[in-house]
Amino acid sequence: MTQTVKYLLDESRIPKFWYNLVADLPVPPPPPLHPGTLQPLGPDDLTPLFPVSLIQQEVATEREIEIPKPVREIYRQWRPSPLYRARRLEQALDTPARIYYKYEGVSPAGSHKPNTAVPQAFYNREAGIRRIATETGAGQWGSSLAFAGALFGIEVEIFMVRVSYNQKPYRRALMETWGATCTASPSEQTAAGRAILAQRPDHPGSLGIAISEAVEVAAQRDDTNYALGSVLNHVLLHQTVIGLEALAQLEMADDYPDIIVGCTGGGSNFAGIAFPFLGAQLRGGRKVQLIAVEPAACPTLTRGPYAYDFGDTAHLTPLTKMHTLGSTFTPPGFHAGGLRYHGMAPLVSHVKQLGLIEARAYHQLTCFEAGVLLARTEGILPAPEANHAIRGAIDEALRCKEEGVSRAILFNLCGHGHFDMQAYMDYFADKLTDQAYDEAELAMALAGLPSVPAV
Ligand SMILES: *Cc1c(COP(=O)(O)O)cnc(C)c1O
Repeated sequence: MTQTVKYLLDESRIPKFWYNLVADLPVPPPPPLHPGTLQPLGPDDLTPLFPVSLIQQEVATEREIEIPKPVREIYRQWRPSPLYRARRLEQALDTPARIYYKYEGVSPAGSHKPNTAVPQAFYNREAGIRRIATETGAGQWGSSLAFAGALFGIEVEIFMVRVSYNQKPYRRALMETWGATCTASPSEQTAAGRAILAQRPDHPGSLGIAISEAVEVAAQRDDTNYALGSVLNHVLLHQTVIGLEALAQLEMADDYPDIIVGCTGGGSNFAGIAFPFLGAQLRGGRKVQLIAVEPAACPTLTRGPYAYDFGDTAHLTPLTKMHTLGSTFTPPGFHAGGLRYHGMAPLVSHVKQLGLIEARAYHQLTCFEAGVLLARTEGILPAPEANHAIRGAIDEALRCKEEGVSRAILFNLCGHGHFDMQAYMDYFADKLTDQAYDEAELAMALAGLPSVPAV
């Protein structure tokens, strides 16, 4: 019973290792390609942007990667994060399902993002880097890296998608409180930003554009690196602390999930909770149904083809094979800003392709309805992104009721919504609508997918 717990956790009940799914995959993921040569990327190609230790994690094939002690000491401030049984939600739904949720809103920034911001700042600092440029959508990643930068004495320069910069001034204030600088993107500070503004001066921005700006700044200065808050293998790796803790916590509760649900923007919190369980399944353990939930207005996994594409609009990043809506696609400005990305983590895309996970898309109103029910039963006010996972979990619990079976459902409550109250005010004032993306724009973005030689 306590085997996993003993092996996995240190004396503070924090995992000693991150879990690398690549070690257990039946088929290795396709390699990333160089944006200029379209040949598989070599480790040296990434050194202008990332420290060697993170590049090694990006291509690692070993199953367990040790979490450095200084990182675990910081994790201890909010980890292990709580795992709750949602008994009052179960009662409200009158379902025989056993619903559990892992709550990542207890971190200083209020989401799962510090799980990777802290090690990224740590490894950069070890490599002598004093400045990091990055992008942020709704501000969750920017504030997490600002927090981690403050702990390690690293200056953080953030390009924030303009619509969120205007919608979420408190997130900006939080980043500035932790000492970071924050600029609305597209901006006049970079060639990538100026090119977009020349075409459309009132451009609302997108994550793809903000990534281009941050990468441009990092590539130009020797003392400056770049950091990404989702999508990359090393980010997903760091987030596995969520699932590893959940494994041990459910073992203490003498239960095991039949179904795991997470929301997907770039795929990191979903991978974080799901991959340790998927790995156990691939090593001969119990089968788990894994459900990724995305917004219907940015339906990367459910509508995007699996193809090589750029991670950013200006095509400065390597190409990765992933589910994508096209790097020029700008999703409508719905409130789950953290889910407005055109691509999906290559590893999440790969396991979707292998049939190991499934994906669903929901519109925002039904997600807010689910989030409000969670607040009124469990007390926690979720981030608009997390509402997608809650909707997915509730639908599975209602299916249990219909079928008269009790299944264990685990979902990731990836963040709180205390900085997203405008979204809730709009919801209660009936000002939120279910926005559709522009089919013509999607077709155009997909027509622009790069063609690559077979690898
Ligand atoms: C950033 C963010 C997301 C989306 O990113 P993933 O990499 O898909 O996890 C979802 N929820 C919250 C609260 C976020 O901050």
